[in-house]
Amino acid sequence: MVYSNAIRTAHRGELSAIADQGLLKEERYIHSPQSANIMVEYPAGSALKPVLNLCSNNYLGLSSHPEVIDAARQALSDRGYGMSSVRFICGTQDIHRELEAKLSTFLGTEDTILFPSCMDANAGVFEAILGPEDVIISDRLVHASIIDGVRLCKAARDICEHSDMEMLEAKLKQHQDKRARLIVVDGVFSMDGDMAPLDRICTLAERYDAMAFVDDSHATGFIGKTGRGTPEHFGVMGKIDVMTTTLGKALGGASGGCVTGRKEIVQLCRQRARPYLFSNTMPPPIVAGALRVLEILNRSTERRDKLEENTRFWRKGLEEAGFIIKEGESPIVPVMLFNAKLSQDIARDLYQEGVYVIGFFFPVVPKGQARIRTQLSADHDVPLLERALAAFKKVGRKYGILGLDEQGVIDKYGL
Ligand SMILES: *Cc1c(COP(=O)(O)O)cnc(C)c1O
Repeated sequence: MVYSNAIRTAHRGELSAIADQGLLKEERYIHSPQSANIMVEYPAGSALKPVLNLCSNNYLGLSSHPEVIDAARQALSDRGYGMSSVRFICGTQDIHRELEAKLSTFLGTEDTILFPSCMDANAGVFEAILGPEDVIISDRLVHASIIDGVRLCKAARDICEHSDMEMLEAKLKQHQDKRARLIVVDGVFSMDGDMAPLDRICTLAERYDAMAFVDDSHATGFIGKTGRGTPEHFGVMGKIDVMTTTLGKALGGASGGCVTGRKEIVQLCRQRARPYLFSNTMPPPIVAGALRVLEILNRSTERRDKLEENTRFWRKGLEEAGFIIKEGESPIVPVMLFNAKLSQDIARDLYQEGVYVIGFFFPVVPKGQARIRTQLSADHDVPLLERALAAFKKVGRKYGILGLDEQGVIDKYGL
């Protein structure tokens, strides 16, 4: 009970250092359900403002879908609010096993184990299946939760430059003396929206006796012709040995994650993965909501198809307006601004115009690579995107960046 003045002063110093660098994260309070149109209180205490939301992971527009809400409400009545237990004591209902089975069928894998979140799945999976005699070769840009999970595991670590297949091949050769080699990538990388080349990764994995790991959190439900994720997109379903993904993005956006893949890997997670053993089970209403989400996705590809159309419309619109965007096919569309302050100024002006987006800069993205990350949703439609585009053009003109190339923007605003 001694939070001494010395430590309080030190903590205050750290907080002001964060603020001085302009890196303080502020929350915007949303007063409506998650949706394409939201009511936001920002700054705190100001009047509510209706804005178009272009920064959520609600890719399929299922976060507030009436059918999902009904299923959750029904489970709340029938199965209760919480389980007050981890899975292996008294936290497994039949619906937990049903969701695991349905996820395996949907993703084309042998077995699946649920976790409280994908962060937890990544924290638990590596330690459960690898030891000091193994090596993990991960892409430089993998998600923070993978970096943490790898740290918790005793396997040797090596890092490959982003999507550099020559370097990956060299590292696979170099590590032939290890018991196992695990190649680790994100299916869709969250800050750039590009995909790991899973076809080439699988070829290399076969050639050099390696396993492949993919975190498909930004892909499950909508990438690939039927939304099975990046393995479907690259034609390698069933070849990825271990995947993790989240239920907290496209699949209803509540919470939960999983490890899915080879059944022995899943069984080892059930015995050893610490967040599975030591953290509370997913609540019944969320399990039931996720089951309904899978049912909706199995019924038709309508939502992922609409998302694909929205994505094409948005990418084309931004490009024609003269913005620099990161090329790709995913609904993550970064608008490149390079200069950190410019990304913040433009995001603020867009908010004034009724468009809610966030500017990212170092250390979230590399220095000199500041950007506004826009994300599309099946909840969007063309009229809404046209309004958003008009706001982008108005603000882009104000800053005189439309039609400039990278060097042009840097000459004007510096880095
Ligand atoms: C969002 C995300 C996670 C974390 O998912 P949660 O279920 O919210 O913990 C993990 N990995 C990647 C690649 C993500 O994008």
